[in-house]
Amino acid sequence: MSVTGLPPYDDANIFARILRGEIPCKKVHEDEYALAFHDIAPQAPAHVLVIPKGRWVSAADFHAGASAEAIAGFWRVVSAVAKSLGLEASGYRILSNMGPDAGQEVPHFHVHIFGGRRLGRMVP
Ligand code: ADP
Repeated sequence: MSVTGLPPYDDANIFARILRGEIPCKKVHEDEYALAFHDIAPQAPAHVLVIPKGRWVSAADFHAGASAEAIAGFWRVVSAVAKSLGLEASGYRILSNMGPDAGQEVPHFHVHIFGGRRLGRMVP
């Protein structure tokens, strides 16, 4: 689904293929709401991606179209994964790029979790 002017959901995108088990990933967690796996090109000592199950291009699509239960379930996974990675005490950053200006490369909504070192300041 895409409600944001981005192209419609593409079932061939790499995260859809990971969800279908066609491409391997280094899995951190999976339940009915989300899959979490290590980023293939980590930008920090801890860099994990969390993706919802379902055909959502962006955060806006997900929040507009998914059920309240699915949205809550997804965000609980984000927090639980950060905790399981041992990041809760030292802190971490969550980030989601949406569309071309933000440099979203994979058109399936995903949240990055970065941590494990002092992160630089966020600049546009
Ligand atoms: P950006 O590359 O600017 O962070 P996105 O927000 O769309 O753009 O993030 C896509 C992320 O997915 C990148 O961090 C990239 O390293 C990661 N990635 C791409 N392919 C895979 C894969 N097969 N397994 C794990 N991570 C992947």
